Amino acid sequence: MVMLTGSPALKVQVMCEGIRYTAALGQATQHSMPNYYPYRFKEGEHDPTGRGITTIPYLINTADGTEIRILGNGDSPWHVEGDLAKGYVLIDDRSGQTVPIEFEPLRPWLTQKTSDGMPFSQAGITTHGDMLVINVAPGCEYFLHKQDGVSMRCSFCAYGAPDERTMHLGQKTGQVEIPPPTLDRMCEALNAVIDQTEIRHIYLVGGSLTDARKEGERFLQLARYVKTINTRRIPVALGCGSIPDDLIAQFHAEDLVQHVCFNLEMWSEPLFAKVCPGKNRFVGYARWIESLETAVRYWGRGNVYSAMVAGIELEPEHGLEWEEAARIALQGAEDLCSRGIIPIYSLVWPVGGRTRSDFHARIRSYFETLSAGYHEIRKRHGLSVSEGFMCHRCAYMQLECDMDRTEAVVA
Ligand code: SF4
Repeated sequence: MVMLTGSPALKVQVMCEGIRYTAALGQATQHSMPNYYPYRFKEGEHDPTGRGITTIPYLINTADGTEIRILGNGDSPWHVEGDLAKGYVLIDDRSGQTVPIEFEPLRPWLTQKTSDGMPFSQAGITTHGDMLVINVAPGCEYFLHKQDGVSMRCSFCAYGAPDERTMHLGQKTGQVEIPPPTLDRMCEALNAVIDQTEIRHIYLVGGSLTDARKEGERFLQLARYVKTINTRRIPVALGCGSIPDDLIAQFHAEDLVQHVCFNLEMWSEPLFAKVCPGKNRFVGYARWIESLETAVRYWGRGNVYSAMVAGIELEPEHGLEWEEAARIALQGAEDLCSRGIIPIYSLVWPVGGRTRSDFHARIRSYFETLSAGYHEIRKRHGLSVSEGFMCHRCAYMQLECDMDRTEAVVA
């Protein structure tokens, strides 16, 4: 059994257990960045809004700069008290522990518009902490394909459907090029954000194309554009899917990005095939890892990353207990690190299994064991997360940067 201490322990606990609604949390919405997921009151929970659903803040920061995404949960032992003038505290009902917190503020750009009237919040950028994410073509073609009746989208993905949320960006299925007006609006929004808050990382992401070469070409267009507008030379990470080697070389030759992150999501071929059927069908597991190795040859060890979804393998359909899931994930961490690739684990809750009495406990045990074990693996391989790629001020649901600041205690 692994126990974390300090900020990482608090972060895992609050990420896994969430925060329940209080008047103070609701009031904080007035001056805080809003959460993308609304708070849904559970059956029987006191609902002062009378609507069953309400907006809550997105992110909290503790005094040492640890950033934590807020998950609304009416069953949580954690709640928030206080106000903007006196300050806010996060309280654990069980122990009475109180933690001073601040909310990620509501910056002016979130309510401002481009010169042709589009809200900046719809211009293809988001932020968390000091990271700015550019996503001007979020629609993912995997949503449009099925095999034997099974959708090719990744099983955990709720954000890549090409629908009305992507129309205002001018994204059309089958069209590779990003419309120039879309890029210009994004540029206006980016400049406003950079003027209003300190941004230390830029991350280029987007939906997948079934043709990896075309996907690479779209990202080349985007990265070339960003290079022209990124006058402060903020480090840029390439967050596309696995693309052909000659295109990877091109990004490097033109010095378009400083870090690369092709998201494998899931270690072990059988789990990858089940969780990411589109990536498996249109790229393939071995090719995905091969492209990460190619990137290591160009950018070097420690500059190549792969986001992983941690916890989704606890879905009942995979038949895994948390110990086995953690063992497989750690095996993957060892393998990827030995190739100079740094996996970054984001906690993703399984949808099924909520009736189990140990639902929260097993996710927490899994994630703590994985985080502590992985920290040791990274240390052994001499790999640390580059300050240019991400840091504890933007890692809102990942633990690597927090672990690098605090040692795990193995009991
Ligand atoms: S590749 Fe997977 S995670 Fe990414 S947008 Fe498509 S379905 Fe979602």
